[in-house]
Amino acid sequence: MNSLNQVCLRNTDTDQSWTLEAYESIGGYSAWRKILKEKTDPNLIIEQIKKSGLRGRGGAGFATGLKWSFVDRDNPTQKYLVCNSDEGEPGTCKDTLILTLNPHQLIEGIAICAYVMGATKAYNYLRGEFILHYKRCEAAIKEATEKNLLGADCLGSGVDIEIFNVLGAGSYIVGEETAMLESLEGKRGMPRYKPPFPAMHGLYGKPTTINNTETLASVPVILEKGADWFAELGTERSGGTKIFCISGHVNKPGVFEVPLGTPFKDLLEMAGGIRQGRKLKAVIPGGTSMKLINANDSLDMKMDYSDIASKGSALGSGGVIIMDDSTCMVQALCHMMRFYEEESCGQCTPCREGSGWVYGILKDMLAGKAKPGDVDELYRVAKNIEGRTICAFGEAISWPVTSFVDLFREEFEFIVANNGKSMVESKLPGANHLAFGWPAYEQRDKL
Ligand code: SF4
Repeated sequence: MNSLNQVCLRNTDTDQSWTLEAYESIGGYSAWRKILKEKTDPNLIIEQIKKSGLRGRGGAGFATGLKWSFVDRDNPTQKYLVCNSDEGEPGTCKDTLILTLNPHQLIEGIAICAYVMGATKAYNYLRGEFILHYKRCEAAIKEATEKNLLGADCLGSGVDIEIFNVLGAGSYIVGEETAMLESLEGKRGMPRYKPPFPAMHGLYGKPTTINNTETLASVPVILEKGADWFAELGTERSGGTKIFCISGHVNKPGVFEVPLGTPFKDLLEMAGGIRQGRKLKAVIPGGTSMKLINANDSLDMKMDYSDIASKGSALGSGGVIIMDDSTCMVQALCHMMRFYEEESCGQCTPCREGSGWVYGILKDMLAGKAKPGDVDELYRVAKNIEGRTICAFGEAISWPVTSFVDLFREEFEFIVANNGKSMVESKLPGANHLAFGWPAYEQRDKL
């Protein structure tokens, strides 16, 4: 427990933690000052990041040092850095704490990464609803600029770095990196075909690196405390800590920064255990786009990229959703698919049509209108979306559906055979299986 909150949330319980004064009181900006003073070779910084084992915290888990090495910094053209602070994945609320409580650490991480890329301009793209976050980040940039930690000729080093905060317009899909670039360019935020990848052809067609908020906020601490220190916090293949957001049927939902590899059981204990003494039924380990894991498989799981992958899912964004035995899996899935149906950008037929088709079948199941064979139909439609779309949103529809049906098929068959009556309801009369907000969505659908 003493290894909690050592990296991205390290100063969040101090008074006015978002101010420059508070951040500098814990050694903030020391890594950046050192780089500017010594004109550190960017390749040495990349080597440190590689050695630390830092992997992208936005969802894909790509090795950060390797990603940084893709941009040709000797290319004299304008280069850009984009920080992905969109955080739209359902079940995830980690970057929100960094942006509101520790914005200077993020700004320092952005400045360091921009320096390594040879980028003089960086954009911090925040989700449209993040008003307080935007204000805090604006204030942080202002304070840092006044101290010449940002701006022209930072601390007399000859290095120029400008950072701009940009508020999105409220769309899930702009969290996809190329959709974010489109949005930054003032266009409708829709994913691009890849290749070309952003490292070659990114913002305004220029070389661009895109990193998640938590990833960039980890960088100053790695450089301050050393790559070995960071690597040793985590597991052999995944260095450092990870912020997990625990929601669902626990006594104390919350956000916890723990070393990668922390047992799932420990995390569950930190969240106060399953509510009302109920039993664990299933877990979504990394936001609703990831596959479901059943209780048996989750209890010995370690919260680390490879261990979760060995259970058939992924660590994703770290949004851990806990479901107890009062959860109707058909309702839970329908609730999730309502979101995806609404958020598809509509470019790809399998995603645009499939998301509505899947949602429609699930609604019919709950309304007692499903036909025999609809469980197979649901599965077939979802499976046929996977791998046939421009971006991973297709998988975000397909994976939850197929994993829910794979693990709890009997509940889907039961509801079809019993005119919309859920198996959980019949076994646990009075159970609060509506805890996933289904009634609220039902109301909206009637509007
Ligand atoms: Fe848009 Fe869906 Fe295609 Fe992604 S998969 S580009 S969200 S239609």
